[in-house]
Amino acid sequence: MWAQSSITGRLSLRERERVCLSHTLTTLTHTSHTHTHTHIHILSHHILSSLSSTWIFIAVDRGIHIEFGLIWRHLLDRAVPVYHVYRMLVKTTFCRLVIVWIFVNIFDKVCSFTMFSGYRITAARYFSCRQPSFALKTEGKAGVSTVIQKQTPKMEDIVNLCKKKGFVHQSSEIYGSITGFYDYGPLGVELKNNIKKMWWRDMVQRRGDVVGLDCSIISSPDVWRASGHVSSFADPMVDCKKSKMRYRADTVFWAALYREDGTSGPDSDASSTSENIKSSGHGDPVCYVSVLESANMLETATALAQKKAKALGEPKNARYKPLQLTDLASAPEDVYAHIPSPATGEAGQLTAPRDFNLMFQTKVGALTDDSAVAYLRPESAQGIFTNFLSVQKTSRMKIPFGIAHIGKAFRNEITPRNFIFRSREFEQMELEYFIPPGEEEWKKFHQQWLERSWEWLCSIGVDKSLMGYYEHGTENRAKLAHYAKACTDITFAFPFGQQELMGVAARGDFDIAQHAKHSGKNCEYFDEASNSKYIPHVIEPSFGVERVFLALLTSAYKVEEIDKSDGKADKRIVLALHPSIAPIKMGVFPLVSNNPKLVAYAQKLHTFFSQQYNCEYDAAGSIGKRYRRADESGTPFCATIDYETLKDGTVTVRNRDSMQSSRMNTQQLKAFLSLEIDGF
Ligand code: ATP
Repeated sequence: MWAQSSITGRLSLRERERVCLSHTLTTLTHTSHTHTHTHIHILSHHILSSLSSTWIFIAVDRGIHIEFGLIWRHLLDRAVPVYHVYRMLVKTTFCRLVIVWIFVNIFDKVCSFTMFSGYRITAARYFSCRQPSFALKTEGKAGVSTVIQKQTPKMEDIVNLCKKKGFVHQSSEIYGSITGFYDYGPLGVELKNNIKKMWWRDMVQRRGDVVGLDCSIISSPDVWRASGHVSSFADPMVDCKKSKMRYRADTVFWAALYREDGTSGPDSDASSTSENIKSSGHGDPVCYVSVLESANMLETATALAQKKAKALGEPKNARYKPLQLTDLASAPEDVYAHIPSPATGEAGQLTAPRDFNLMFQTKVGALTDDSAVAYLRPESAQGIFTNFLSVQKTSRMKIPFGIAHIGKAFRNEITPRNFIFRSREFEQMELEYFIPPGEEEWKKFHQQWLERSWEWLCSIGVDKSLMGYYEHGTENRAKLAHYAKACTDITFAFPFGQQELMGVAARGDFDIAQHAKHSGKNCEYFDEASNSKYIPHVIEPSFGVERVFLALLTSAYKVEEIDKSDGKADKRIVLALHPSIAPIKMGVFPLVSNNPKLVAYAQKLHTFFSQQYNCEYDAAGSIGKRYRRADESGTPFCATIDYETLKDGTVTVRNRDSMQSSRMNTQQLKAFLSLEIDGF
């Protein structure tokens, strides 16, 4: 709201109207862009008098909400003189309000007949975004809903919903499945496509400094030798000799249990000659435990340690120091033999960690010898690097600029786990942003891309309260990827713990310099501004589509208890996905399925809106049941065709989140969907 006093007096009446108009447009545009639920509820005395010389439409919704809109500028200009006379005649604001209210009601009826001109739609777009239009009435008593499960859902809730609704399931299920590979059903593929569509729109189409690229999955093996993936793209792996289980060493956590008073534990195989243990000043440990990485691994390890101590004859009331869990990859060599296998609980079963290359190998062509070996790409970035100069030249981009790519990547993960979080085949949305060399440069752009990535995730509906940052290499630089100068992850509180959602790496000039060296080609960029040649440095924001998918489902999943009008409590599972991301944008229902006129109308409406959006026609069961099904699929709007529709062409549009309904005709619904889904 702006200060009226600063405007009056100093500006002419005409100028004042212009200022008011631009303020109003700014306010309304801002409200609609940020997608807040904010409505301009009360048109205060001040604002009313500031706006009174513009063409205002006011709708009074049950006497509480007063909303206003603006019409095209030329109409406004014509209307102003008439309105001045009117203002002079009608002195009090209250009387003006009543007259405008009567006018709007009459005007609304006129509008219904003159819809073809489209001006009302244009005006409606300026409105605060959540209510469809100033003249639409809210119908019926809305269900009062109380969220009873707001905390992060359990993993099994998400997995079950995904299976039940056809989002995701394991690949080759009829053959007992194959670990680390997933298939996406009708809803899953829509959700995935929407994530990619939004990313491409926001990172490529809406930026003048980024262009797109699509590269082949298999490229020359020389690419992977130059990039260092053949020699260094490996994870440390350990095997359990007894159970034959294989683990990624940095996902197995171990700890020693020490008495609180510092005395040594009983004489068991846990007593160690380890110099590390001796120098720790704890006395010999009572026992060692190991657990697999999980959100509650400390509790699991503590319970395990207490059970083991009891079995070793420790007194019931013995007190111990809190366990300090560390990953197996960094376990001292002389302790290693004492760490039990997480599969069998027995010490001495784990092999020493060894590197396991994550690239999938294949053979290209008819030859079967080593010369035919090729790799499925483990990241899409290398395709961007090898194409850097040709893209720069053909698109005439100047540094700083970016090249974006969306495509499949393959990693032979040692332990694929946590549903689609870590799979062997996944999709990456990667962007290489080329910048001039220099310490200050990369730090500035790295920060910019971190902020942009965070904003983007929030804009599509990832819950910001569950997000965080993790900077790699702060304790140990050797843990940074072989190519990285710095890397910061945006993390997310998945149901199994806070884990990497995406990463923003500063890759320096490592990759392009490597390709220049190995290919013998000059990969330097000529900078016209500084008249110099250099190999550009790179900032890489890299998103996994599946991890964004999982973060969106986790953010959107809610179980709500609803008080129904008959007083009975009801429960609904709802996926509160952002309309731009939701797999189905609108459900179209005939009120009853045995009235041919309603059915024909609904089918026609479905066909009409399916030209632009993925819509679902549903005529089975009661309207309540159809709403529940739509809520579980994350469908934000449902249009019901009833007997009134046959009379006046309006349908009931129900909002998934508020469960409120409004009546709209087809053109209004079109404008409403465009605003809600596309944002304009
Ligand atoms: P992690 O440490 O979890 O293995 P990473 O640091 O190796 O991941 P990057 O190489 O930086 O991952 O890949 C970029 C992005 O690709 C990750 O932030 C993640 O979103 C996604 N990603 C990587 N590996 C997988 C996988 N196995 N399954 C699904 N998504 C993945």
